[in-house]
Amino acid sequence: MNIKDIFHTMDYGKAPESAELALEWLASHNNTFGHHINGSWVKGKEHFASNNPATGQELAQVAQADDKIVQKAVNAANKALPDWQALSGHQRGQYLYAIARLIQKNSRLFAVLETLDNGKPIRESRDIDVPLAVRHFYHHAGWAQLLDTEFPDHQAIGVVGQIIPWNFPLLMLAWKIAPALATGNTVVIKPAEFTSLTALLFAEICEQAGLPKGVLNVVTGDGRTGQHIVNHPEIKKIAFTGSTAVGRWIRQATAGSGKKLSLELGGKSAFIVCADADLDAAVEGVVDAIWFNQGQVCCAGSRLLVQEAVADRFHDKLISRMNKLRVGDPLDKSIDMGAIIDPRQQQKIATLVQAGVDAGASLNQSSVELPENGCFYPPTLLTDVSPSDQVVQDEIFGPVLVSMTFRTPSEAVALANNSRYGLAASIWSENINLAMHLAPLVQAGVVWINCTNQFDAAAGFGGVKESGFGREGGKEGLFEYLKNKPGKSPAKVTAKSTKSKPTSVNLNGLDKTPKMYIGGKQTRPDGGYSYAINDTAGDLICHVGLGNRKDVRNAVEAAAGSTNWSGMSGFQRQQVMYFMAENLSYREEEFAARLMAHGHSKKAADAEVQAAIERLSYYAAWCDKYDGQVHSVPMRGVAMAMHEPIGVIGIQCPDEAPLLSFVSLLAPAMAMGNRVVMTASEHFPLPALDFYQVLNTSDVPAGTVNIISGEQAELCKPLAGHMNVDAIWYFGEDSETVERESATNLKRSWTVTEVRDWHNNGQGSEFLRQASQVKNIWTPYGE
Ligand code: NDP
Repeated sequence: MNIKDIFHTMDYGKAPESAELALEWLASHNNTFGHHINGSWVKGKEHFASNNPATGQELAQVAQADDKIVQKAVNAANKALPDWQALSGHQRGQYLYAIARLIQKNSRLFAVLETLDNGKPIRESRDIDVPLAVRHFYHHAGWAQLLDTEFPDHQAIGVVGQIIPWNFPLLMLAWKIAPALATGNTVVIKPAEFTSLTALLFAEICEQAGLPKGVLNVVTGDGRTGQHIVNHPEIKKIAFTGSTAVGRWIRQATAGSGKKLSLELGGKSAFIVCADADLDAAVEGVVDAIWFNQGQVCCAGSRLLVQEAVADRFHDKLISRMNKLRVGDPLDKSIDMGAIIDPRQQQKIATLVQAGVDAGASLNQSSVELPENGCFYPPTLLTDVSPSDQVVQDEIFGPVLVSMTFRTPSEAVALANNSRYGLAASIWSENINLAMHLAPLVQAGVVWINCTNQFDAAAGFGGVKESGFGREGGKEGLFEYLKNKPGKSPAKVTAKSTKSKPTSVNLNGLDKTPKMYIGGKQTRPDGGYSYAINDTAGDLICHVGLGNRKDVRNAVEAAAGSTNWSGMSGFQRQQVMYFMAENLSYREEEFAARLMAHGHSKKAADAEVQAAIERLSYYAAWCDKYDGQVHSVPMRGVAMAMHEPIGVIGIQCPDEAPLLSFVSLLAPAMAMGNRVVMTASEHFPLPALDFYQVLNTSDVPAGTVNIISGEQAELCKPLAGHMNVDAIWYFGEDSETVERESATNLKRSWTVTEVRDWHNNGQGSEFLRQASQVKNIWTPYGE
């Protein structure tokens, strides 16, 4: 081919990266690996092959860890823990810094090995995965240094178990290990069976960095090894990235175990192109959103929503760009798309696309010539799809984009939110006001405006809804690896249970049954049953309604339908909450009398009412002050971490300090803009049930607060399992039921089984954090 021909075809030549270095490293291990535990290699018994998806050739044999190997790793991590925690933040930071430097020094080896093992283009592993992994270690070296001053009330959790997927093997490892080590935890990590090699190389790098033995332990294997980690009683936290199905199983398996959990799961992220967008830029955005890493990205912009006026033009541009993408040898530096991870994943993609076509979708597939061998799938666009189609709802995890149109911005929001997932979204408009208007309305943990797939260690990443909970990166991500330092000694609950068996009471005539409060109205229990509340002498005070699952459903419906409160400004909420404090103070004596009926002395009752008034004022003060942050990310632009309400929170109140605990849980949830379904203390419900008077007289919109009484064990299941409840707070003994049920829609759960001293330890940033979620909105500067 002469130069004239080249100009004519504009074809690229081959630009292969050499695999030699990585193959030599594999050969230096005889292409067979054990586990890396306690700073050295431990031979495996059974092995499986790790293949190069671009060629199908075997790269190495990797060991399958059984429960004994996992135990060995946990023992090493446990043994290393005290010394690791005894180091100063500065000293721990030095190790993270050394790891960052060593990855940098070996960056070519890491990039090539990653590309061989995963099939992703070398351009991506070299320019994105490895530099971002390095960035994570540098960033968290800094957090280690700052830990004592920035998190004085927190400490490490202990041994953490981490399970990562195959789509970003080194990067996910860095996202998990860097914050865990910075905060003083020790780690047992399992890479995905398809892609264990860079994790094993990383273990060697840590050895070179002089990381103390046992601080990091890498065990390899398939899902069974993951299960051993999840179920291990000495592992105090599980950090998982992967499919929603496995995430749900982990939520159920860890229920009641006291393990802390963060789940980064699947997605079906919306990519919204408004009519006034820079269409050429948006086309490039789509390329990065869905064809980056062959679309095997949890936050891939896989649902394109284009405004009708420009849809045809946009699709034409997109198809023409798609046809120019180069698919092939991932080691070729000028390739756009590499290989799919495994033939099974390729088959899954093909099956889903066929199902879409069978359901009526129009198939637009790049005519690119695919390599004869290896596991490749062409860039694909499906149009003429409906919101309920499987291809629109399910995560395909491949280079497949589905496209729909919208007419108005509110229709775009409705379509974007019509998904069980909520990981990310991308919004394209030259009108920044419009984009900034849409960003808070889209249900997602991350929103990119006029950009996509931006990541950085300084900005938290993570989802809402069935995309999981918890954040990785940013200050918000560090809390996932920390727990509170032991609090002040808890108050004893002196009052004993006064509950009697449910009895049917005559609800006609003279009815002394304090009602429940649902949708702004006093309500009788659906079942018509009530239970007796006795005073400390055992004499009947009155009966209260015995709520059932129907009452829970009614209350959730009222809360879900009442969105006014969440739409109010912090200042407006503040005024209402100050009003609540004022109205409670008018009724001081009434509430004190209720507490005295529950066995409080006059002094204790007065003190509790006073504390409840103060607590309302405390959270009223916070309404307009719990600010977000502007993260310092290395781009010309900003990543704004905004605190948002979670939505509907179900709250089960404890018995101790029945008025103060009720207010201490209600007020932060309200302050952050949530609607709540409260279940009153089971044995001392009267102050909570009387609280409707305060709400009714304080301009609280109907449905914002709903209060149910009844048996906690009976109510916790439907409340924790309800699909319209977005978070559950539980203060009681049976955290297992609540956590297991919360797996239905993977809602956030906050379960506290120890008795709390509500006077001295019942307010603060912990409550505000639980009542809000962080959304990171990225906006670049410039033309
Ligand atoms: P999985 O969720 O099955 O795997 C993720 C990690 O969990 C892997 O290390 C896996 O091990 C491990 N694992 C599997 N089963 C269990 C278990 N029961 N207990 C503990 N750990 C377990 O995802 P896949 O890799 O199978 O991918 C399937 C689908 O998941 C994809 O098609 C995609 O839709 C989605 N996915 C989402 C990702 C995300 O980032 N959100 C990432 C990867 C996949 P091993 O791989 O060794 O079996």
